[in-house]
Amino acid sequence: MSVRGSDLVKKLPESGKKNCKECGFPTCFAFAMKLASGGAPLEKCPYLPPETRAELEDALAPLIKLVTIGYGENALPVGNEEVLYRHEKTFVHEPGIALLISDKEDEAKIEGKIRKIKELQFERVGLTLKANLLALYFESGDRSRFEALVKKVFDHTDLGMVLISEDLGALFSARDICAERRPLLYPITRENIEEAIPKIKESPTPVAVRGESIEELIPLTSRLKDAGIEELVLDPGSKNLLEGIRDQTLIRRAALKQGFRPLGYPTISFPCFIAKDGLKECLAASVFIIKYAGIIVLSDVDKYSLLPLLVQRLNIYTDPQIPMSVEEKFYEIGEPNEESPVLLTSNWSLTYFVVSSEIEGSKVPSFLCVKDTEGLGVLTGWAAGKFVGDAIGPFIRKCGIEDRVKHRRLIIPGRVARIKGELEEALPDWEIIVGPREAAAIPGFLPEIVKKWKA
Ligand code: SF4
Repeated sequence: MSVRGSDLVKKLPESGKKNCKECGFPTCFAFAMKLASGGAPLEKCPYLPPETRAELEDALAPLIKLVTIGYGENALPVGNEEVLYRHEKTFVHEPGIALLISDKEDEAKIEGKIRKIKELQFERVGLTLKANLLALYFESGDRSRFEALVKKVFDHTDLGMVLISEDLGALFSARDICAERRPLLYPITRENIEEAIPKIKESPTPVAVRGESIEELIPLTSRLKDAGIEELVLDPGSKNLLEGIRDQTLIRRAALKQGFRPLGYPTISFPCFIAKDGLKECLAASVFIIKYAGIIVLSDVDKYSLLPLLVQRLNIYTDPQIPMSVEEKFYEIGEPNEESPVLLTSNWSLTYFVVSSEIEGSKVPSFLCVKDTEGLGVLTGWAAGKFVGDAIGPFIRKCGIEDRVKHRRLIIPGRVARIKGELEEALPDWEIIVGPREAAAIPGFLPEIVKKWKA
């Protein structure tokens, strides 16, 4: 439920009838419409009394607050979502995946987990996919042990952290070790909230509020907001996957459909605590990626569990209205030289990665020229007039490939063999060779064609 200009205008001076134009808009109504769409700042109207301004700021604030955990290039923004279903528009901030480390674990295991989170990074469609956070769990009862763990992670990684401790003293002493990294503090509860508020305010950082139910969260977030603490994350205390789906959905619906501010915050979920084994934990995490967690805490990760989750997250949080694409340029695959084959494809990410991996599989170092087709595949790009001779010719001339190879042979995809003639006109000094129709045939095609050239 977003705010409407027709509602905002009633709050403007003289109930929106002043129309003095000082904001740069011809009428108060025009200004209100721009405000509602986020196209104008409130400050443009100099006649708003402070209480009206505060009321409007509140009305214009995102329905799910943006909360940032961590800092620098590893800062993780969560929240600020606008839709219930991805196809309505897009999901905005992908959930952070956190790896749990308990201070009860032995040194070797802790070191291993820190190493894993650093090493388990995957390149896909030009992006680096990785987990985002370490969740440090005070479980031993020995505060010095917990502090040593926090210090170790702080000193040896630059990742964001979730600090988990039922002991408020341990929570805040751990916070003081790494406050500059803006850790998320968990949990603030009905029992500890009054004691926690002054300590949170000493060094503000995001906090996660835990209730035994969604209803229990409401007075807690309201109390924290009244105390000026607004970077909040919600844990409705779901005990199993079914409750988790129900709670996450109710929170999202209340925030977006009813505009219910006390639940207008991102959420945290704990597959590590609600699932009984690794596979179920992974399945629970995949559900929470879809519905609607802001942070997902896992007890352990390995290549085989983390990669599918990261790919799923990428797919769910990719804007469905914008095709994924890679940069227009020529790419080197292997260590090509001036005699190496030159292939051509479009810049739809999937096409690029399929073709480049097939070239890698051929073991023939090559150049792959990638033409910008605004993310369309070769056939649709051709149909849309973006992968045609007139567009490809100038690209080949300017991309620099002519300085890298001595020969002038360009292999085009067999699927668009019909552009051969156009390309011969656009690039008269190049021999245009029709490659295979399917990228999967490239590993056999390339060595054969190179052999033929050498003969
Ligand atoms: Fe209305 Fe304020 Fe704009 Fe004047 S400056 S037209 S009062 S919104």
